[in-house]
Amino acid sequence: MPPRSALFSQRSLILTLLLLLACGFLATSLLSYFASRSSIRDNIVNTELPLTSDTVYSEIQKDLVRPILVSSMMAHDTFLRDWALAGERDPAQVNRYLNEVMRQHHAYTAFFVSNTTGVYYQAKGVLKKIDPQAPRDAWYQRVLTLNTPYEINVDLDMANQDRLTVFINYRVFDYDGKFIGVAGIGLTVEAVIRLIDDYQQRYQRRVFFVDRHGRVVLTGSSGGPHGARSGQSLTELDGLHNLLKQMPTPVSGSHEYRSSDGHSHFLNVRLVPELNWFLFVDKREDGAMDAIRQSLYLNLAICAMITLVVLSLLNAMVKRHQDNIETLATLDSLTGLPNRRGFDLLAAQALQEAQREPKPLIALLIDLDHFKALNDTHGHLAGDEVLCQFAQVLEDCLRHADIICRWGGEEFIVLLKDTDSHSALAVAEKIRSKTEALAFTYAGQPIHLTASIGLSNLQADDTLHSLIARADHALYRAKQSGRNRVCSEMPRSDHEQP
Ligand code: GH3
Ligand code: MG
Ligand code: MG
Repeated sequence: MPPRSALFSQRSLILTLLLLLACGFLATSLLSYFASRSSIRDNIVNTELPLTSDTVYSEIQKDLVRPILVSSMMAHDTFLRDWALAGERDPAQVNRYLNEVMRQHHAYTAFFVSNTTGVYYQAKGVLKKIDPQAPRDAWYQRVLTLNTPYEINVDLDMANQDRLTVFINYRVFDYDGKFIGVAGIGLTVEAVIRLIDDYQQRYQRRVFFVDRHGRVVLTGSSGGPHGARSGQSLTELDGLHNLLKQMPTPVSGSHEYRSSDGHSHFLNVRLVPELNWFLFVDKREDGAMDAIRQSLYLNLAICAMITLVVLSLLNAMVKRHQDNIETLATLDSLTGLPNRRGFDLLAAQALQEAQREPKPLIALLIDLDHFKALNDTHGHLAGDEVLCQFAQVLEDCLRHADIICRWGGEEFIVLLKDTDSHSALAVAEKIRSKTEALAFTYAGQPIHLTASIGLSNLQADDTLHSLIARADHALYRAKQSGRNRVCSEMPRSDHEQP
């Protein structure tokens, strides 16, 4: 297991990287979100809405300005005035006149209302008499007191199945400037309404007209924003309170407001001077921002995924690297056998197992004889090679489960698991005799070698240290008594062989 400090620094490295990646990704995602948001807002406010406004304006101009000119011509027509002043004697004449105007100018209706008789003439004949009390004729009372030459009125046309019609009501005067009636034409606003509907559907924006007093005069077929209908005042609409605080009466320009249901709106207002109406083009912010908000979420999700993948890869790499370092730290680089550090780990476990069961455990401490002389004779590299070959001899003589370690220099230690003293002595003897018999080689040269071995067996109250100390003692005796031999250090009862 890596030490606590290494674990801590590994964790803090990963946390720091996580923080850096998260902050970096978050910063770039948010920056690009806000940049796109502001460019979309600019685009809506400065381009999209004014462009819609321009197109609708030019359509309405095409549809409404010409009828005003026609109505003006009618109001100044000498035939109409003469006929009225002469006592409105032959209505067929005026019907014919109105029919011609209608036909020539593709109007929906053409009319003349005499102020003297109150009769409403139109192309097909006499429609009715104006009733000053009737709400449907309120328009006439309004035109009577008008201080402009004409008004434009969006109303239902009684003569044409009550279709929504724009009437141009032009005041007619006699040659002395006396008011004698109202003339004009009417046209359906279906084309304009269709255009408004098309814009509303295609671009999710609301298009409608408001007069100078803040009265909604024309909307698409499904109404204006917040359920506005023609004839309603903006003040009657829920949701426009914030806008009306900024703009009590219509003012041309760009506006931003929050409706009472909490949505942000962009609004472009422009005056249509010919109609004396304001064209409102209104767009809700969230519709426009949905796509970019979604791309922000997607962006963040991708960043989070990348961060996680990078971190888990990094974590795996660091762990593998650490494992490698740990493995290397427990192995001897020359022989590939466990070193003292590796031995400590393996031996502690073996000792614990043997004492728990309990099972026998044997320690062999092996020292190569006169190794200094071997180095001196054949060279240090030959010594290294012999050490490697001797490690191989040990591995050949031992089982897989046994623990072999290079104790240091030309000394090795072996732990034989679950082996009684008798068998252990046989194994030690096998190592000794094989070493003596084998011709080690270096650069084609045979080198002879012997080994001295000290043996000890595990006692109930032993530690690893005391077990090895006894093996060391036995090894000392082996050296003392002439080398190339096995000596054991065992309590009396364990002596199976001296
Ligand atoms: P003895 O029989 O009493 O053990 O004699 P010795 O010469 O083997 O003992 P000594 O402890 O005096 O010398 C051990 C020698 O082993 C000295 C040292 O240079 C050599 N040695 C230790 N480690 C290595 C190594 O990794 N490679 C080589 N080539 N020689 C080593
Ligand atoms: Mg030695
Ligand atoms: Mg030696």
